[in-house]
Amino acid sequence: MKYFSTRDKNCIVSAAEAIAHGLAPDGGLFVPESLPKLKNEDIKSLCAADYRTRAVRIMKLFLDEFSEDELERMVNSAYGDNFDHPDIAPVHFIDEKTAVLELWHGPTCAFKDMALQMLPHLLTASLKKCGEKRNVCILVATSGDTGKAALEGFADVEGTKILVFYPHNGVSEVQQLQMITQSGKNVGVSAVYGNFDDAQTGVKKIFGDREFADKLSAKGWFLSSANSINWGRLLPQIVYYFSAYCDYVNSGNIAFGDTVDFAVPTGNFGNILACWYAKKMGLPVGKLLCASNENNVLADFLESGVYDKNRPFHTTISPSMDILVSSNLERLLYSVSGSDTQVAEYMRKLNSYGRYAVDDKTADIIRENFVGGFCTDTETKSVINKIYTEHGYLMDTHTAVAYKKVLDHRAEIKEHTPTVIVSTASPYKFCDSVLDALGAETNASGTQLIERLSELTKTPAPKPLSGLGSREKRFNGVAQKQDMEKTVADFLLE
Ligand SMILES: *Cc1c(COP(=O)(O)O)cnc(C)c1O
Repeated sequence: MKYFSTRDKNCIVSAAEAIAHGLAPDGGLFVPESLPKLKNEDIKSLCAADYRTRAVRIMKLFLDEFSEDELERMVNSAYGDNFDHPDIAPVHFIDEKTAVLELWHGPTCAFKDMALQMLPHLLTASLKKCGEKRNVCILVATSGDTGKAALEGFADVEGTKILVFYPHNGVSEVQQLQMITQSGKNVGVSAVYGNFDDAQTGVKKIFGDREFADKLSAKGWFLSSANSINWGRLLPQIVYYFSAYCDYVNSGNIAFGDTVDFAVPTGNFGNILACWYAKKMGLPVGKLLCASNENNVLADFLESGVYDKNRPFHTTISPSMDILVSSNLERLLYSVSGSDTQVAEYMRKLNSYGRYAVDDKTADIIRENFVGGFCTDTETKSVINKIYTEHGYLMDTHTAVAYKKVLDHRAEIKEHTPTVIVSTASPYKFCDSVLDALGAETNASGTQLIERLSELTKTPAPKPLSGLGSREKRFNGVAQKQDMEKTVADFLLE
């Protein structure tokens, strides 16, 4: 299968090239030339398989340059005992019409693991297929979650190193501990004096420094990113929509062929886009409920067809969704409009004016499939409290935003359709807000709050979080903004 840029159909590459390069040269995102269609028998046979087999079968459809053996090996090491649940992405039923897809049983307790445990394998294999002889160093600027998930994914992966920069005093105590206690011979972590933007600007500058790239190249290194617009991060996410549907059927709560709605807490639009692709591939998906926090640019877009990022930025208790430019929306626009020139024009307007309006036909198709909505932090907390009190089910702040959208949607259509709520983080990952939602005190350190939540709810904290306080702190460096490049050089050329 070939891939091309959302902004130019004539910019054609192989799957390996799409994954190795990440972004198309014209700034567009790589998309498959067509979406494979699954027959009912194919989906039925997935229902009888385990997660790893489902993953191999779905991903193989998009990666014909990779052999089945090769994919099996990758999938087995990506989704093994690094997950603390045998189903990898288990489905929990609140009632027969309401299911929660838990995507946080991986090593960092958030859904980014679903893709970032797989990406290093896809990336190193893709680089080999492209004839790349140099070793790759992944550079990441993080506001918390992505950095840790990328570290876990790339730790001890041969032919790679990974260096993560985070803002000094700009991440939670738990997030900082997660990163600076990271194990692995090939990993590095450094704080940067400044905020997340400073760290990100610094990393972008390093990527743009040709002279530095030449210097690294002479020593056998090149730099790459593990950004969420890489096709290698999106593809593993399509799998769990098929998997959740199969588990719903297997539960006996729906019959095969019945449609299921999915509610997704959305930031960069990667997760929910994977659901859209699954629907286009033949999965019986009804509505896609796109849930935002107070950064409600997507909710407005889905309703009006106008994307306008010119609005205040809100810092919320669901920080991984605090985003005003949802990069992966570009892929949806291409998928719906089928026009590279249109997409290029929308993105040009977004760049120049921070705003674009899609044509009526595109807006209508999107509206037939997607339902947007958003809620405030107060509403998020009240849903956490309500579902815990009524059903004994504890969820994190991001998941609660999606749950709220489901409750609102049901009230509006006066019907309960079978729905899967996509749960993107363990409640322990955001335990201060979760404790607050439950009415508990939050005046303690991050590691103490983890214990407090465990005692209060009589649930065990996930292993990767419970042992944090006693792990060795390996990385205590803090770099000045202007010294980030030197940090990279020291890390690679020591
Ligand atoms: C990244 C993230 C999201 C947003 O996912 P997108 O694919 O960017 O829409 C939601 N919840 C959590 C916990 C995340 O880490």
